[in-house]
Amino acid sequence: MSQHFLLTRQAKTLSLAQVFRMSDAEAEATFRFLRWPETKGKPVCPSCGSVDAYDCRRPNGSPRFRCKGCGKDFSITSGTLFASHKLPLRAYLAAIAIFCNEVKGKSMLAMSRDLGLSYKAAFVLCHKMREAMAEEMKGRKIGGAGKVAEVDAGYFGGYVKPANLKEDRKDRRLHRNQSGKRKAVIIVRERDGNSLPAVFKSEGAALSWIKSRISDGTTVHADESAAWNALHSRFEVKRINHREAYSLDGASTNWAEEYFSRLRRAEIGHHHHIAGAYLLRYAQEAAWREDCRRLPNGSQVERVAGLAMKRAPSVDFCGYWQRHLPN
Ligand SMILES: [Zn+2]
Repeated sequence: MSQHFLLTRQAKTLSLAQVFRMSDAEAEATFRFLRWPETKGKPVCPSCGSVDAYDCRRPNGSPRFRCKGCGKDFSITSGTLFASHKLPLRAYLAAIAIFCNEVKGKSMLAMSRDLGLSYKAAFVLCHKMREAMAEEMKGRKIGGAGKVAEVDAGYFGGYVKPANLKEDRKDRRLHRNQSGKRKAVIIVRERDGNSLPAVFKSEGAALSWIKSRISDGTTVHADESAAWNALHSRFEVKRINHREAYSLDGASTNWAEEYFSRLRRAEIGHHHHIAGAYLLRYAQEAAWREDCRRLPNGSQVERVAGLAMKRAPSVDFCGYWQRHLPN
């Protein structure tokens, strides 16, 4: 009997125990290699690009380099998503491993408990990892000639709690009784390929974005929602009416449904409330997890860490709590 991939030995190439057994020097070497793969871990000055730098550690032993070209100091994380890091490098590797090992998402409270961090620090760290994952989706195009892509939408956020007494309850299907915070997550997903999510007010508002992100010649599959009618003018579209079947005559949106299943479980099981400014980040995280689900966990960790080391300091979270909460 064939074993599910995730249960095989090939799927488990890195454990948290291994990360914690790493010495400081090993963790440092790992990050150096991820940051400067071109020079096999030899430091490259972020200011002038010189490869001539000498080791100039801080008094506490944390790694720092001084460029012989321009004389500036830099660290392994200068100019990356983990710039001005406060924790030892091994803790970041552990955080990424914990984050990747969870298949639906990681609760930020659980992360703060796992690593002994404050909730705020765990919140920022998790969002930085989402930012790293999103880096792969920049400018991504889905499909191509002979390829099949699926389009679907799911609604998230803006939950309105029903009143206790029946006579006080309102019809939450009516627009005037909604919070206005409910948003549509749109997914465009290539079968056996990559996914791309986005957040819009409605399905209709997403049409020009969808058209711009699906390559010409792609066959698009969508459900019966009238919002998708406009796609027929641009692509060959196959429709599936979910009231009749989930898959009929080769038409289905099951890859897209699989994505929403993961995002919905992340919402219900881990985050409880995903809405507003960060909804897109959670949507991107779920897309990354979907696309990388068959990668061994060690490769996933390496990929996220590599992305974090290539990405500039966080746009969302640099000094986040200083800006948002005075204490
Ligand atoms: Zn320099």
